[in-house]
Amino acid sequence: MADVKPNLIGGQWQAGEHASANINPSDTDDVIGHYATATTDDVEAAIAAASAAAHDWARSGIQVRHDILRTASDEIMARREDIGRLLSREEGKTLAEGIGETVRAAQIFNFFAGETLRLAGEKLPSVRAGVDVEITREPVGVVGIITPWNFPVAIPAWKIAPAICYANPVVFKPAELVPGCAWAIVDILHRAGMPAGTINLVNGPGSVVGQAMLDDARVKAVTFTGSQATGERVAQASVRHMRKFQLEMGGKNPLVVLDDADLDVAVDCAVQGAFFSTGQRCTASSRLVVTEGIHSRFVEACVSKIRELNVGDALDSRTQIGPVVDEVQLQQDLDYVEIGRREGATLRAGGERLAREKNGYYMQPALFTDTHNDMRINTEEVFGPVASVIRVRDYEEALHVANDTTFGLSSGICTQSLKHATHFKRNAQAGMVMVNLPTAGVDYHVPFGGAKGSSYGPREQGRYAAEFHTTVKTAYTSA
Ligand code: ADP
Repeated sequence: MADVKPNLIGGQWQAGEHASANINPSDTDDVIGHYATATTDDVEAAIAAASAAAHDWARSGIQVRHDILRTASDEIMARREDIGRLLSREEGKTLAEGIGETVRAAQIFNFFAGETLRLAGEKLPSVRAGVDVEITREPVGVVGIITPWNFPVAIPAWKIAPAICYANPVVFKPAELVPGCAWAIVDILHRAGMPAGTINLVNGPGSVVGQAMLDDARVKAVTFTGSQATGERVAQASVRHMRKFQLEMGGKNPLVVLDDADLDVAVDCAVQGAFFSTGQRCTASSRLVVTEGIHSRFVEACVSKIRELNVGDALDSRTQIGPVVDEVQLQQDLDYVEIGRREGATLRAGGERLAREKNGYYMQPALFTDTHNDMRINTEEVFGPVASVIRVRDYEEALHVANDTTFGLSSGICTQSLKHATHFKRNAQAGMVMVNLPTAGVDYHVPFGGAKGSSYGPREQGRYAAEFHTTVKTAYTSA
């Protein structure tokens, strides 16, 4: 077979026996490359190498880790066009979104480069005279990283960068659909000077490669983003080994639109939040909870905006909405459109598969109206360009509907009322709350994560990432 991109195990690139093809969802004739599939033996070797590297890595100087993170950030930023293009080609988000995500990854590596230089502990007096107390953070050990396909550069970055900052060796298993971006990031880190064994890449199926990682007691912490079903497996396997784990598992995010909202702002937030990145964001606004007085104006404006959206090849500069990631996901999205119809919702826009010049997974964004919060389209995560409008009487009902979900990642409100915005921030059952902003779109220097069934464990990103990536030691000294 032509050029196979290998896995990185113990500082060595290893091609292995099998490889899988990476296909462009905008053009299924375009094969991006072939990527080696790791075996369970490869996973074992990667974990062994990471464990062997852990002791020295924990004692590496902060300057070494800072420089690696900074070098990686600089290269990612310098190559944002070509990595962004690769991202769009393999995942299907638009080129502008692909480049934006790549810039975000560079910023994340840069942030944690800075954090490396700011590592600190506390020194306190003891309650016992003559005794000193020191509190320090130590590396947690080998970190297993399991990522989804929808942010193939940013999510690996926000899991790998803090692992390096806090001196943990990494075994990284990316999603099967996006091996290219994962390979590019690991290649950059390897060349930036990561010592052998401190960064390992094992591509392959979750049920084999991911599971082998979960089943190995030498992995001391697992950080996972993906579905609730897999999150539960991660949790169960991790409890069995008494290891730390951190789960991010999607949402059914509400955007509340009140009568006093600025209509243009509300429509922009809804269309952007629901459909950009093809709706394939765990923070996407899939439930638009709209009060009676603005309902018809809001729906009309959304429908006309949706009809103007340009769905097409991710690499075409005119495209606003790229393809769905693959045939399985597209079929799931279309199935949910059918489920919504059968449940009695009105399909006001889109919802059909689109033919384009090249063979790809194109779909017109779908908007349902006349929906109830207990319909399946409003309770289950679709993970595609499908959103529903839920009509409510007033703010109180809107808040109730917004919170009436098993998820709790991001929750938004469009209003000009300080009273309602303040009440909503206090009472929305979500890890992130947005006022007059889309539910999707977050900063990188502050915590990311959800409430209820969306998340479990310490927050990701910003300084809060230390909670997962370190363990705290309290030392007492009698002088
Ligand atoms: P999605 O619906 O986003 O694909 P998944 O939870 O299936 O969500 O996948 C997220 C990540 O979890 C992927 O990298 C996938 O390969 C991995 N994964 C899936 N099954 C398992 C498993 N049994 N053990 C570990 N990782 C898994």
